Amino acid sequence: MTDQTPAQFVHRPTFAEINLSALRANLESIRQHVGTAKVMAVVKANGYGHGIQTVALEFQRLGVDSLGVAYIEEALDLRKVGVTIPVLVFGGLLYDQLDLYIRNDIDVTASSVSKLEQIDSSAQKLGKRARVHLKIDTGLERIGVHYYSSQTLFDAALRARHCDVVGVYSHFADVNPLDLSLARRQLERFTTALEYFTPRALSKFDRHIAASGGLIALRESHLDMVRPGLSLYGVYPHRAMTPLLRLTPALALKSHVVFFKVVKEGAGVSYGHRWRAPHDTRVVTIPIGYGDGYLRSLTNRGWAIVRGQKCPVVGAVCMDQLMVDLGPSGEAYNGDQVVLIGSQGSHSITVEDLAEAVDTTPHEILVLLNQRIPRVMI
Ligand SMILES: *Cc1c(COP(=O)(O)O)cnc(C)c1O
Repeated sequence: MTDQTPAQFVHRPTFAEINLSALRANLESIRQHVGTAKVMAVVKANGYGHGIQTVALEFQRLGVDSLGVAYIEEALDLRKVGVTIPVLVFGGLLYDQLDLYIRNDIDVTASSVSKLEQIDSSAQKLGKRARVHLKIDTGLERIGVHYYSSQTLFDAALRARHCDVVGVYSHFADVNPLDLSLARRQLERFTTALEYFTPRALSKFDRHIAASGGLIALRESHLDMVRPGLSLYGVYPHRAMTPLLRLTPALALKSHVVFFKVVKEGAGVSYGHRWRAPHDTRVVTIPIGYGDGYLRSLTNRGWAIVRGQKCPVVGAVCMDQLMVDLGPSGEAYNGDQVVLIGSQGSHSITVEDLAEAVDTTPHEILVLLNQRIPRVMI
């Protein structure tokens, strides 16, 4: 097997390969699925681990209508690297950050009446207009004005003379394709709340509630705009959604064998000896660990593809290394490429597989992959 490590990674043989054509194919799939609805590409948390600058500029180039991030810091980074399309910050805001939003033309989430009033007075002070999305809480109980009190926020928006309301949005607490009842109830609360504002609004605005789950599994939730994150990166929020939309994973996590040994029957492997060789077996060591964001809970649960074979991660995942059992007749050489997420030969390990193995969301598997892992664009 050839070693395809780019020369600059000789000293860090672990890297994430980001496939830009997969991003393009996923966006295309999503556009076909949602028809005329606008697309806000969500790039928070370092572009779900794919590298925020690269993916943001790529989505902008591909013509998405806007970008979504969690924090103002992320939005400012995007402006610095040349993002000119609208950027919405989802998170709750603090008053002393408001100047930054308005000066940099960042769309603000108004999640309460008092915050909206603060946004309006900041805009007045700066002599600029603020672009605002009103946030309605329809059942997540995170941020936003409760749907049953939303008239107070709408009335405040009609009084705010220095704000342009460009959006009104909400967020689903659960889009379970096997039981969409909560999502439907939230959508109903949202559209009912909007009946008050729509005829009174001073200008056109976008109604949006669907992230990847709603986008894929609940067509009625597309409204004027969808906010996909996970699905743009080719990952499904739920197994049962696989047949509903064609997606291609954009990230592969790769490393190389740095050590090979035979472990004797009965010997314990790694910290705490949480795995013992049931027979003499061949074990390799791979230079990635929880310090890179490869979850320690994947101890005895993860896999790696080595020389076309899918092999288990054995023993505790260390901070910087992990061990993989090749079996009694497994073969590998130092320098062999190892796939931790992605495919090789007929085998694959998906983000969804890892999420299921440790009972978390696919989002968490991706976003924890940190800056220690170089990103290689292909
Ligand atoms: C993260 C987030 C999204 C994207 O969610 P996915 O499940 O990754 O598609 C959309 N909207 C809001 C408000 C978010 O916080």
